[in-house]
Formats: sequence, structure tokens, C-alpha cells
Amino acid sequence: MTQTKRYACPYCGSEDTRSYRAIYEAGSASSTGRGSVDTGKLLSGGVDIQLTTVTEEARLAAKPRKTVNFRMDAGLFLAIAGPPIAFITFFIAAVGRDGYQQPLFTAIGFVIVVGAALFIWGRSDAKKEDRDLPERVEAWEKTWRCRRCARSFLTK
Ligand SMILES: [Zn+2]
Repeated sequence: MTQTKRYACPYCGSEDTRSYRAIYEAGSASSTGRGSVDTGKLLSGGVDIQLTTVTEEARLAAKPRKTVNFRMDAGLFLAIAGPPIAFITFFIAAVGRDGYQQPLFTAIGFVIVVGAALFIWGRSDAKKEDRDLPERVEAWEKTWRCRRCARSFLTK
């Protein structure tokens, strides 16, 4: 990726600036073990410290993502894995006894309904949070960071 366009920092006037995208991509690449030299900082400890610095910076400049909703995952898991778990539990506990089928089917129905409800509830929340995702990504594309004063700023 070639990046010739540079923006001067509006706070200190330094031209040592980088886009969030470039920082983010450099940070992702650093996991392969190639550390980049962070200018303006005295590094005494070698590669490990450099990698930590890059990762920290990349975390700050992380691209906005879709919401990961725990309730969605939990609900999906419950609706899919719940029935066999209920079936096995009941099978071990109550097989051979009279009338065990009815509580079994009640339990299976219950986990499916609860799982589906959790999933739908979680998804509606995730959708709400993701509604402004395009704008957040757009803002991220325009955000740059000054490497001298470590401040972030929006470009046009
Ligand atoms: Zn600056």
C-alpha cells in the first residue's frame, strides 16, 4: 500500500503523522514478529518493547467492527445444544419411569424458547449498535494520529 498523502498535525505542526488505517495495518503485521521503530521514543529493551508499543498503538487505532453480542451467541447455543443436553439428562435420570416423556418435552421446549428469545433480544441490540457503523468506519478512515504529540485528529 502506498501512502504519499500526508497531513500535518493541527496541534503541534509535525508532519510525522499516520492514518489510523496505516497504524492498524502495521499493528496487525507486527504479530508476525516484525517490529517497527517508533520514532521519538527511546527504546532500550529491543524487539519485545517495540512490538508492545506497536500493538498498543494499533489497538487504539482499531477499525470499528460489528458488535459481538454475548446474548446472541448464548441464545443460539441454548437453542441448538439445549435439546440434546436435556434429552441426555432426562434419559439418564428418568428412563424406565412412568411419565418421563412429558417433563422431557417441556424442558426441550423451554430451552428452545429461551434460546430463541435470547438470540432475538441480542440481535436487536446488536443491530441498534451497528446502525451507525458505516459512519464510524468513515470517521475512522479520516482519523490520523500525530507521532510527536500522540494526538489524534480528523482530516477532511
Ligand atoms: Zn502533533
